[in-house]
Amino acid sequence: METTEIRAFGAETSESSLKQITIPRREPTPADVEIEILFCGVCHSDLHTARNDWGGTKYTAVPGHEIVGRVTRVGTEVSKFKVGDLAAVGCLVDSCRECASCKQDLEQYCIPGFTGTYNGKDKYLGGHTFGGYSEKVVVTEHFVLKVPENLDLAAAAPLLCAGITVWSPLKHWNVGKDSTVAVVGLGGLGHMAIKLAKALGAHVTLFSRTPGKEKDALELGADAVVISTDDDQMASVKGKFDLIIDTVPYVHDVNHYVATLAISGTIVLVGYLGPLDPMLNSVPMILGRKSVAGSVIGGIAETQEMLDFCGEHNIVSEIEVIEMQDINEAYERMLKSDVRYRFVIDMASLKN
Ligand code: NAP
Ligand code: ZN
Repeated sequence: METTEIRAFGAETSESSLKQITIPRREPTPADVEIEILFCGVCHSDLHTARNDWGGTKYTAVPGHEIVGRVTRVGTEVSKFKVGDLAAVGCLVDSCRECASCKQDLEQYCIPGFTGTYNGKDKYLGGHTFGGYSEKVVVTEHFVLKVPENLDLAAAAPLLCAGITVWSPLKHWNVGKDSTVAVVGLGGLGHMAIKLAKALGAHVTLFSRTPGKEKDALELGADAVVISTDDDQMASVKGKFDLIIDTVPYVHDVNHYVATLAISGTIVLVGYLGPLDPMLNSVPMILGRKSVAGSVIGGIAETQEMLDFCGEHNIVSEIEVIEMQDINEAYERMLKSDVRYRFVIDMASLKN
């Protein structure tokens, strides 16, 4: 298959910094859309992958799955996009399209497995997929999203992962006007969860371990802030929430939050992947019919629904725009929660 070499930023090992490299992109097939990447958000998953936190990273790793840009070429079978259109790509670039999950628009739960935008198995070129820290991307039309024209393009990029990852559980658990929702962690996912839950009409509380984020949280739409390290504050919200979205990336005590669920309430883990420590105590779950659940990103139709909702409600991410060359420093700052609230790379800097 014909390819072109393009510029990208990637890590060669789990210990190395990201640096400029070249990668191949396939020539668009009849079903493909080619997109010049204008902005790419920086997700904590990018860092986990570059540093092999989850195991299984294939190198050279080129992260980036919050991609917005302009269509530069389309294949002959493409009907929804034309050259010059705005377009976006999130965490998925392919799936089997035939299994029970894919047939229900749940490509993120594709039974044989979806193809991730990075570190996935590249069905076309062999090897693994390369993400959005690059000049352009070529993606089959079904996995390309439309971006509402009224949204600031850089600030819309994080909707493609941070936005959909919290939107999907908010919708699945039917959050609306009478819901009482809490969000754990005010980072990229957390700040989008506050904005989206609020726009759906919920009463929203932020759990943060960082005193000093209260003012921001209220400005983002939270109705209340609870400092999770303060036992009195935690006790004051015992039995309160219908749904908690937990975005914390590292192991932490989930029992702490189960206590704040209302009867039949659910805490959805979207941040940490791995065994819980301390273990879950089933007693409050059984006595209160409470659930501990998980959720991964969202399907393509649901992602489009979220983007359209954000267009109607003028919702975007709070961002700090960086140059591609600043990515290693951005990762260090993200580890210290020193980002309000998403880094977005201006991909024009890759041409520097
Ligand atoms: P982020 O911007 O770094 O935000 C994480 C927030 O969690 C921080 O701002 C901090 O909030 C809190 N936090 C960080 N370290 C903590 C610790 N050790 N203990 C307690 N709280 C801590 O990260 P993100 O981009 O939002 O991503 C969050 C997680 O979701 C990552 O693990 C990422 O890989 C994962 N993710 C999952 C999916 C999915 O589909 N399930 C999709 C995207 C990302 P406070 O300072 O307010 O406490
Ligand atoms: Zn992500």
